[in-house]
Amino acid sequence: MDGAGVRWDYDVAVIGGGPGGSSAATALARRGRSVVVLERERFPRFHIGESQLPWTNEILHALGARDIIATSGFVEKWGASFRPPDGAAEQYADFQTALETPRPQTFQVLREKFDEILLRHSEKCGARVLEEHRLLDAAFDRDGITLHFADRLGGNGTLRAGVMVDASGRTGVLVKRFGRHEHDPLLLNIAVHAQYEGIPRATGRRAGDIRMFTRPDMGWLWFIPLSDTVISVGAVIPQAVHRRQSRPTPEESLAHYLADTPAAAPLLERAQRVSPARFDADYSYLATRMAGDRWVAVGDAAAFLDPIFSTGVMLAMQGGLEAAEAIDAGLRAGDVSARAFARYERGVRRRYHHFRRFAVGFYDPAFRELWYSRPPFTSIFHAVVSVLAGNWRPSVATRALVEMFFAVVAVKRVLRTFGRTRRVR
Ligand SMILES: Cc1cc2nc3c(=O)[nH]c(=O)nc-3n(C[C@H](O)[C@H](O)[C@H](O)COP(=O)(O)OP(=O)(O)OC[C@H]3O[C@@H](n4cnc5c(N)ncnc54)[C@H](O)[C@@H]3O)c2cc1C
Repeated sequence: MDGAGVRWDYDVAVIGGGPGGSSAATALARRGRSVVVLERERFPRFHIGESQLPWTNEILHALGARDIIATSGFVEKWGASFRPPDGAAEQYADFQTALETPRPQTFQVLREKFDEILLRHSEKCGARVLEEHRLLDAAFDRDGITLHFADRLGGNGTLRAGVMVDASGRTGVLVKRFGRHEHDPLLLNIAVHAQYEGIPRATGRRAGDIRMFTRPDMGWLWFIPLSDTVISVGAVIPQAVHRRQSRPTPEESLAHYLADTPAAAPLLERAQRVSPARFDADYSYLATRMAGDRWVAVGDAAAFLDPIFSTGVMLAMQGGLEAAEAIDAGLRAGDVSARAFARYERGVRRRYHHFRRFAVGFYDPAFRELWYSRPPFTSIFHAVVSVLAGNWRPSVATRALVEMFFAVVAVKRVLRTFGRTRRVR
C-alpha cells in the first residue's frame, strides 16, 4: 500500500479481534483500506459481557452487520429490571419508553458467538484476520510500523503497517507502553460469574431481559438469559467487601454472594451451575493516552467502565467506528500524527464520562433511593432510561431532564447526610 509514497503490507494493523477491533477493521475495510487483524486466540473464545444495549443496533447497522446479528438466534432483550435487597419495588427500565431510541429491542449474546460473527464479518468486508497470532512488539519509525508477532506454530513473523489500532482489551498493548490505565477510585469492584440452568425465567416479552438485584453493601447481582435454559449469573462486589468475604474458590465465592442476597436466593433453589465460575477484577479505568503518532486505542484498551449498565461492547464498537473514520481521514490527508487523532480521543473521553456519571451514581445510596422510588416526573425517568439504552448523544431537552434527575439525587444526598431520609433500600 502507498502512504505518501511509502510501501506497507497493510494500511492498518488492528491488534485484537473483539468487538472493538472487529468494528474498526470492518469500518476501515468498507472504506477501502487494507487491514490486518492479529488476534492471539482462536475464535470462538469465551468472553464475559453478554447484555447489549439498543443503541448498539445503530452501530451494527453502520457496519452492515445488523441483519446477521438479528438472525443469529440471540435472546431478545427489551429492558432491564432492578430489585432492591428486600425484593420489593421492582424498577423496570423498559427500552420502549426510552427517549430518542430508534430501535428499542436488543439482544443478550453469547460473546463467543457474537464476537466470532463480527470478526468473520470483518473478513467478508475485506480485512485479513490472523487468529492465534500474538503481537510481541511494534517498532515505530518515521514511515510506518514494523509489527513482530508469534504465530500459531510458535514461529515469529513481521509485517509493516501505516497505523496501528490497539484493540487488545485490558491488555492494552500500546496504551501501557505509551502510558497507563488510570483506575477510578470510586469504582473498585470485583466480579465473579458462571452459567446456570434451572433458574425460573420471566415470561412473555420480558423473558429475555436482564434482571439485577442490589445488595445493602452496594454490590449487585446480574441474571442474563443466554438461551431457553442457560442464564449467566454474576455478582459485582465492592473490593473492600470482597476482601472480608471472599471464599477459597470462585465457585464458593459466587455461591456465597448468591445465598447472601435474599431477593435473588429463591431463584437459585433448583439451579445447577453448568460452567466453571470465574473472577474478573472489573476496576474501571481510563488510559492516560488513547492515541499517538500512528496509533489509536479502542474499546477496553482505551477505557473500561463498570458493567452495571452494560455499556462495554457498545462503547468498544462505537470507538472502533470513530477510530476507523479518524484513521481513514488521517491517511487521506497524509497526517496520522497524535494531532490527527486528538478529536477522536476527546470523543471517547466525553462518552465515557457521560456513562460514568450513572455508573458512579449507582453506588451512591441517594441515587439508588431515587431510582427505586422513581423520579418525580415520568419524562425524567424516560430520559434516564434513554441513557441506559445507550444514548450517548442526548438532545439538549433529554440532557436537561437528566440534569434534573441528578439535581434530585443531590438533594437526596444532602438530606441523607442530615439523616432525614429512610435507610438505603
Ligand atoms: C464482569 C464483567 C461484566 C461485563 N458485562 C458486560 C455486559 O453485560 N455488556 C457489555 O456490553 N459489556 C460488558 N462487559 C465489558 C465488555 O466485556 C468489554 O467492554 C468488551 O469485551 C470490550 O471489547 P474489546 O474489543 O475492547 O476487548 P475484548 O473483547 O477483550 O477483545 C480484546 C481481544 O484482544 C486480544 N488480544 C489481547 N492481547 C493481544 C495480543 N498481544 N495480540 C493479539 N491479540 C491480543 C484478546 O485475545 C481479545 O480477543 C463486562 C466486563 C466485565 C469485566
